[in-house]
Formats: sequence, structure tokens, C-alpha cells
Amino acid sequence: MTQNDQNLSAPISCADFQERLPDLFASGSNGVPDDLTLQHHLDTCENCANLVRDLQYIADQARMLLEPAEEEPSPGVWANIQSKLSAELAIPELPLTPKLQTD
Ligand SMILES: [Zn+2]
Repeated sequence: MTQNDQNLSAPISCADFQERLPDLFASGSNGVPDDLTLQHHLDTCENCANLVRDLQYIADQARMLLEPAEEEPSPGVWANIQSKLSAELAIPELPLTPKLQTD
């Protein structure tokens, strides 16, 4: 009765997308969503696409700093990302809870 496509027509807000961002990076997919809803948002939202690009850049830099040790990014990386998110989007504190805290 609807033309709703389950994945693509459940649009999420930028805030929703950005809430998931830390997970995307923490999961090692480097900001590339495997969730169609997220991917669709990324495809259609220049704002978030730019944001992901920025974060990918940060993540790349962090990885380079951390290499060759194949370790997860330090909590400082996530703090960096979080502050960038906050600064660029002026959104309230993200529930950033990386699962890879080392302390
Ligand atoms: Zn967006």
C-alpha cells in the first residue's frame, strides 16, 4: 500500500547519520556504511559526504601515525573526530563510545 522501500525510503536525518559515524569508523570500514540507509544518506547528502571525507582523512592520518603497528586507533583519534564533528556541525556531544579503549 505504500511505495516505501524498506531500506531506501526510511530517510534518516543528518543527526542520525552522524550518530552512526563513530561506529562506522570504529568497525574498521573507514566510514563506508554497509547499511543501505546510511549509504543512501551518504549518497544524497553532500554535507555528510563531506564530513565522512574529512573523517576519512583524519583516520588516514591517524593510521599513518600509528603504522606499522596494526593497532586500533588510540582514543585520541576518536576525541579528535568527535571534536571535529562538534566543531563542524555544532551538534551536542555525541555518544562516542569506542569499543577499543585501551586504558
Ligand atoms: Zn546528512
